[in-house]
Amino acid sequence: MKRIIIAIDGPAASGKSSTARRLAQRLGYIYLDTGAMYRACALEARKKAIALEDIPAISAMMDTLDITIAQSPHGNILMLHGKDITDAIRSEEVSNLASAISAIPIVREKMVSLQRKLGRDKAVVLDGRDIGTVVFPQAELKIFMIADVEERAKRRYRELQDKGVIASYDKVLKELQERDFNDSNRSIAPLKPAADSISIDTSHMGLEEQVELLYKLALQRIRSVAPLMLAQHSGFCFGVRRAIKLALDAAMQSPDKPVYTLGEIIHNPQFVKELEEQNIHVAKNASEIIDSIVIIRSHGIAKNEEQLLIEGGNTIIDATCPYVKRTHELVQEMCEQGYPVVILGDSHHPELIGMVSYGNQETTVVAAGEEPNIIGKQKLAVISQTTQKLENLQALVDKLLPECKELRIFNTICIATSKRQDATETLAETSDLMIVIGGHNSSNTKMLHSICSKHTSCMHIETEAELDQNMISTATPIGITAGASTPDEMIIRVYNKIKQIKGESDLATSIRDIPTFKEESC
Ligand code: C5P
Repeated sequence: MKRIIIAIDGPAASGKSSTARRLAQRLGYIYLDTGAMYRACALEARKKAIALEDIPAISAMMDTLDITIAQSPHGNILMLHGKDITDAIRSEEVSNLASAISAIPIVREKMVSLQRKLGRDKAVVLDGRDIGTVVFPQAELKIFMIADVEERAKRRYRELQDKGVIASYDKVLKELQERDFNDSNRSIAPLKPAADSISIDTSHMGLEEQVELLYKLALQRIRSVAPLMLAQHSGFCFGVRRAIKLALDAAMQSPDKPVYTLGEIIHNPQFVKELEEQNIHVAKNASEIIDSIVIIRSHGIAKNEEQLLIEGGNTIIDATCPYVKRTHELVQEMCEQGYPVVILGDSHHPELIGMVSYGNQETTVVAAGEEPNIIGKQKLAVISQTTQKLENLQALVDKLLPECKELRIFNTICIATSKRQDATETLAETSDLMIVIGGHNSSNTKMLHSICSKHTSCMHIETEAELDQNMISTATPIGITAGASTPDEMIIRVYNKIKQIKGESDLATSIRDIPTFKEESC
């Protein structure tokens, strides 16, 4: 993911620090509370009883000041000369002293230099008064957070009350007004919005809302510096990779025996053709194959087909994805325990045909959004196709729950699938156009396409030849995602073709060359 600098400036108690800290956590960025650094200077001056007018003494103090900052889920941990001062800097006395000391040029010079050093690797969220104007005027995202002074005083007053500090609201309000005045009217680095900052008034906003808004803005900015990105977790999943490896190994180890996959090993015609050249053929029916090596693909197969393969004297290599295998076991187990089984999924999909074969007469299939027919059923078991979307399973459960007394729900959606879907959704939210790569008959790719179409324009393509040149040349930013059966080579070809349409020459030779949109903490 592209690393950017996010500068959040604004007056005290406008919501900067809590928002900045949470935003950094969500992005997997570093958080830097620059106000705390000025507070540390104030604390040191107070400890050493240095008058703020005594500039030579302040200057000497700054020369030896040793501040270190560590990250914690609760914010920055500040150490001054090796001692934890995180709590000590939060008193009202230190707040007021910090406002005064921060107006001294030598103090600012040292602090700004330290802040630039700490933020030089980017991927950082800083909050303060002069981040967007002085410290990092090149920051990619600048926010100026404001709120009514009364509202801010209320927040600060509540904070003090929560800490058990006895305070007067009027005094808190007066001190805030004084700090605002000092911070905005000092001659050096006064508090003011950068010309290119986005102003956000948090007077009537909650923390969650603020974080969500800034998170969206941050993602948009990250996208604008990297207008063509690939969703994290795109392409081949573990089950598919394993099945292909087993097929290739089998073909290599037994050059004299024909190798078949029952159905296409992955829903990707171009790749299936390549395998054909390596002597791995596709058989449509189990009864066609005799005395051969047969790879059961990651989708799995129905019980009766497996029986036919055995009867044909074949050597079976079972590459059924372990997640799919688990659904077979669950369907069988639930039937044995007397539960009518409801399977969520597409009844025509091979994975479903395999699953259903482990059920009995009471086993039914319900497609996403369809009404389940469960009249008279007191108890039920619900099992999902591995590539379903969690919200579809959730919706089915919501329908079933009021109707029966006992409901056993198995979340058999594969983690790789849900990760791919989540990453695709976030990328789609910040893209002008999404390119979804995968076989036109691939269920998980179709699912990705439907997720993208909720948020933006999208194209489902199998190869780069299907790219619509007009759409590509006018859209920015563009996101790419790929189904579980899309080889890396195809992703690279599509990426390079988009680059060429855009007139760009920095093409990818490996999947690692493609900028990936990672959502670390989501
Ligand atoms: O943000 P916080 O209230 O902790 O900051 C304490 C004081 O430090 C502020 O009132 C302001 O005077 C000063 N400060 C600054 N520049 C920054 C951050 C804080 O002058 N970047």
